[in-house]
Amino acid sequence: MADSKWQNTEIRSSKLRARSSGFGANSALRNPQSAILKEIFQKLYKAYGPMHWWPGETPFEVMVGAILTQNTSWRNVEKAIQNLKEKKVLHVKGIHRLKRSQLASLIKSSGYFRIKAERLKAFVDFLSENYNGDLKKMMKEGVETLRQKLLQVKGIGPETADSILLYGLKKRIFVVDAYTKRILSRHGITSAKTSYDEVQRLFMDYLPHDEGLFNEYHALLVHLGKTLCKKIPRCDGCALQGIGQRA
Ligand code: SF4
Repeated sequence: MADSKWQNTEIRSSKLRARSSGFGANSALRNPQSAILKEIFQKLYKAYGPMHWWPGETPFEVMVGAILTQNTSWRNVEKAIQNLKEKKVLHVKGIHRLKRSQLASLIKSSGYFRIKAERLKAFVDFLSENYNGDLKKMMKEGVETLRQKLLQVKGIGPETADSILLYGLKKRIFVVDAYTKRILSRHGITSAKTSYDEVQRLFMDYLPHDEGLFNEYHALLVHLGKTLCKKIPRCDGCALQGIGQRA
């Protein structure tokens, strides 16, 4: 896609438009992967954006949400977060002080609640031990160091770690999930077997490193995966029809 076409899109947010114009700022533009990733973003943003992710009043709430949303719908997470708010424990010390059984009871709606209570406890222990519970201190760490540390916390895998980094701490890292993999593979950009790290590397290599762009792009892919690109895709009317080698 020519740069001029990209710049003429009807992206409503001038801030994001300015950031994403960086697609053409380096030699990656000449790479077909870069052009396809740009086109996907452009079409999805025009169709759906902006998504206003991630819902949460504080960085800590976003991080808790990232852990609770594992293997469940966001609606179920909302109830759990509301319970934590009503009990006034949605902060590092609050979760730290709760007994695991109390925490499990409060987050029951999010499913796998005993496991998730353990994970939340492990996460706040990590925050307390490494940053004295101070998220501002946490934010000062470099993204790679922080990512490696988060991956050592029990129950935090790459998707959760990257969600915490991008949506909680505004770090420049791309979040990959099952929807991302499905959409890319259906268009012949990756294969079904491409690993999390490889898919992430693709976005990190060919997109401008911009937190706002990464935020919006992932949110748009999730929206598409939930609405049209389901297990049985509903391609009629999808903004991505005809992109890449397939679909
Ligand atoms: S619904 Fe169809 S066209 Fe849309 S992203 Fe999925 S496979 Fe592609």
